[in-house]
Amino acid sequence: MPRYDFDLFTIGAGSGGVAASRRAASYGARVAIAEESRVGGTCVIRGCVPKKLLVYGAEFAEAFADAAGYGWEVPPPSFDWPELIAAKDREIERLSEIYIRMLGEAGAELLLGRAVVVDPHTVEVEGRRCTAENILIATGSRPVFPDIPGIEHVISSNEALDLKELPRRVVIVGGGYIAVEFAGIFNNLGAKVVELIRRPELLSGFDDDIRVALGEEMRARGIEIHPRTHVAQIEKAKEGCRVVTTDRREFAADLVLYATGRWPNTAKMGFAESGVALDDKGAIVVDEWSQTSVPNIYAVGDVTDRLNLTPVAIAEGRALAETLFNNNPIVMDHRNVPSAVFGRPPIGAVGLSEESARREVGEVDVYMTRFRPMKNTLSGRGEKTLIKLVVDPRNDRVLGCHMLGPDAPEIVQGLAIAIKCGATKRQFDETVGIHPSAAEEFVTMREKSVRPKMAAE
Ligand code: NDP
Repeated sequence: MPRYDFDLFTIGAGSGGVAASRRAASYGARVAIAEESRVGGTCVIRGCVPKKLLVYGAEFAEAFADAAGYGWEVPPPSFDWPELIAAKDREIERLSEIYIRMLGEAGAELLLGRAVVVDPHTVEVEGRRCTAENILIATGSRPVFPDIPGIEHVISSNEALDLKELPRRVVIVGGGYIAVEFAGIFNNLGAKVVELIRRPELLSGFDDDIRVALGEEMRARGIEIHPRTHVAQIEKAKEGCRVVTTDRREFAADLVLYATGRWPNTAKMGFAESGVALDDKGAIVVDEWSQTSVPNIYAVGDVTDRLNLTPVAIAEGRALAETLFNNNPIVMDHRNVPSAVFGRPPIGAVGLSEESARREVGEVDVYMTRFRPMKNTLSGRGEKTLIKLVVDPRNDRVLGCHMLGPDAPEIVQGLAIAIKCGATKRQFDETVGIHPSAAEEFVTMREKSVRPKMAAE
């Protein structure tokens, strides 16, 4: 008779929790997984996937505009927002059902309801108590809002994905991933977009050249970006809202979207009470094995606030399952994780920005090119692509690859393998390009950029 009901009890059926549970069950572990909302978590239900579908929907505006230069006569296109939202909802429903089915096929028991940790080996879900040898916390994160007057009038990305109608005027507060992505979606679909950011440039943490170029291209597309801007309050207006800044500027909007970061979901689930240490932000403190301060309780994904990206949560979850149930100890490597911002234009990046490389290794060599991609010649679109490599002159290793322009996320995924393998600039140079493509620029840049360094901050 086993000592516990389950070998692994996972709290949260998002990307990390599902990945860990399925992998553990595949090794014969007896697994239960609890979910209080919809199976699939942030990425599938209210994050990456629905957002990307809206990005695809919004991209068509560019295709229609560009087609004329290639000989197409396109009648003025019309767009139906409710139609796109309904189609997106159907796809999300389909994916959620696939997740449920996959968990069942793996042999994991799904418990629908809010889970509370009662003690380090007991979890309660809607009155049912289960014991488990190991508990995995994968409860993700939620949008966080600053405490200012009128904040109740704003929405987060959760609601932005389900709007009944397309707003005419949108004010977006924040300059991170979500803000940039939604600015692109709403702008392409015809809304007037104003973005208010507290820094001089968008996307802190990304390479400064990319940040500056992104701001230029977004402005050229008609998005207003106001740097060094702090919101004092939001007021209800006759139509929509008024966003008032601390220096008394006012911006009228039908919709105010706050994308000012996300916080870990750790409140009122019995974690701290069971001895699990949390940091100042409420994130679960873990070691490199995703182990918390309670030895049989683990945590992966956004709730640990390490690198808040879906594939990272999945990799952390799988590493844990391998370690616990396959006698194959794996520590997730958080270095050189590629990421993308699906803005218009999009960004792909892997490795160090020039600024962080300088901090880490001192002097670096930079190879950079900004050019009009071939497709934009006949279309007449003025937008330019930026491609940049950061190289360690001591050993020729490429420390960072950065791209702003069409297909950047698709291109940088491949380059991430080279970076992970420790590729040198010489090996990039020895690689034959694919012509004509934008990606070939990554292997044809010969001249170092001579740079009086400009700083975004
Ligand atoms: P980010 O952390 O990316 O950006 C938050 C933005 O809000 C920053 O510009 C930040 O400014 C600003 N900000 C924070 N607090 C305030 C405040 N009180 N007032 C005004 N501005 C503020 O968070 P997001 O919400 O955009 O996204 C959350 C996370 O989700 C991301 O970090 C990412 O990990 C993940 N994500 C990933 C995506 C992808 O991979 N494509 C897409 C979407 C989300 P400052 O820079 O000064 O701190």
